[in-house]
Amino acid sequence: MSAPILKVNDVRVYYHTEAGAVKAVDGVTLDVPRGMKMGLVGESGCGKSTLAMAFMRLIKPPGRIETGQIELDGTDLVAISEEHMRRVRLNEISLIPQGAMNSLSPVARVRKQIIDGIRDHDGRMTQAELNDRVEEVLEAVDLRPEVADMFPHELSGGMKQRVCVAIAISLRPKVIIADEPTSALDVVVQRQVMETIQRLQQELGISMILIGHDMGLMAQSVERLAVMYSGRLAELADVDAIFEEPLHPYTQLLISTLPVLGARGVFRGIPGITPSLLTPPPGCLFHPRCPEAQEICQQKVPAWQEIRPGRWVACHKYEV
Ligand code: SF4
Repeated sequence: MSAPILKVNDVRVYYHTEAGAVKAVDGVTLDVPRGMKMGLVGESGCGKSTLAMAFMRLIKPPGRIETGQIELDGTDLVAISEEHMRRVRLNEISLIPQGAMNSLSPVARVRKQIIDGIRDHDGRMTQAELNDRVEEVLEAVDLRPEVADMFPHELSGGMKQRVCVAIAISLRPKVIIADEPTSALDVVVQRQVMETIQRLQQELGISMILIGHDMGLMAQSVERLAVMYSGRLAELADVDAIFEEPLHPYTQLLISTLPVLGARGVFRGIPGITPSLLTPPPGCLFHPRCPEAQEICQQKVPAWQEIRPGRWVACHKYEV
């Protein structure tokens, strides 16, 4: 098996506030296999977007990466200079951020916005080559060439999101991180944009990390799935295995709350609220909400363990 494209080891991202350190990401370890679609799922505030920003090394003060390694194809992104990281962004790893379509400049035409990103990394391309590349990436995301000369306000939400995907793939990176890429779109457009992202991922052989809170979307879109809870990973496995036999009580609850077609009754959520990351409870962070909590769960943080090949979980139930 080839080496993973992304190796993440014990990454911690803390926000230093006057009240103390908020541990937004607290010891995340995972591998993203080459060419794979990997999902990262969890409730809002669980640290998944912070982790994505750490992969791009875009954490802003008062936040910082405290410890850990983020190796992209053998290069530790935490250790390289800012100038080196600037070259890596877009070229080797790119991000479609949450609400990406609102990040487009309202006063620049689509062509300029795509070209600016490319020029920043490759100043040697001629204007003709740049125009060809703009057409190529617009076609790749199913947009007509005329879109290049339009302003964002002339485009629908789905088209704007496609422009963001075009920018993200414009330099053919090895990894794309898509942070809730379709959350602001209606269901039909959401599906079309997801299909485009998936097709590109396969055609270009890009590895993808899809971030979101929707277990249903993950089931349809990814091959491996990491479940995150309050800054730590709870479970990681092939997506089929997670849905057939979820191990972590949090994953079990996430799946049990999925609506079932035809089922009547009251919609059930997960009882309780996520803990404060400023004053987290001791032991397993999920223990105040866990129906299977034991005494040890209140005292000791469960270890992140590979209990079977490719099957990771952090729960005292599975510790030997
Ligand atoms: Fe529940 Fe304990 Fe497992 Fe945490 S470690 S998920 S509290 S059983």
